[in-house]
Amino acid sequence: MSRTLKRRDSGLTIQNFPGAPDLDADPRFVVDAMLGSFARKLRILGLDASYYRLGGDQGIIEVARRERRVILTADRSLAETARARHIPAVLVRGPSDGRRLSSVLLAAGPLGLRITRGVPLCSLCGGGLQVVGRAEVVGRVPPRVFARHRKFFRCSGCGRHYWKGSHWKKLRSFGSRLPSKEG
Ligand SMILES: [Zn+2]
Repeated sequence: MSRTLKRRDSGLTIQNFPGAPDLDADPRFVVDAMLGSFARKLRILGLDASYYRLGGDQGIIEVARRERRVILTADRSLAETARARHIPAVLVRGPSDGRRLSSVLLAAGPLGLRITRGVPLCSLCGGGLQVVGRAEVVGRVPPRVFARHRKFFRCSGCGRHYWKGSHWKKLRSFGSRLPSKEG
């Protein structure tokens, strides 16, 4: 009830958009071509963020409409065009991915979107990661990495391997300001 009221009070909200995302489910995003590294980081944080490579406002708006995704873009005119067509769009601001994440979180509340950190997804394709035994990654990860780590993951989509190295930890701490699903 309070959520409904909050949405109604906030002016620009998405509940009336045809094809609006289900607010009770995790929001799904489509990230525009200029924000590739941002999209990869969002996936590591467990967000469903597809990346629209082709450019062109029409194309990304169509994807958002068809797949019920929220557009994340740094292009003000794209954000405005999308909203004028009743497609939810968040204008991403900031010179760094950290600032960009903050700007998305700031915009999410008034839009009625609840963004939470989830189980990490493949940064390349967004596929789910499965734990694999050490024996399965012999020769598939650099020897130094193999020697140092006990736990490995494989993407069910593209087969890429992951391990919790410094890069991974940095990315997860980048997202520490996101509430986790449990919280
Ligand atoms: Zn993958």
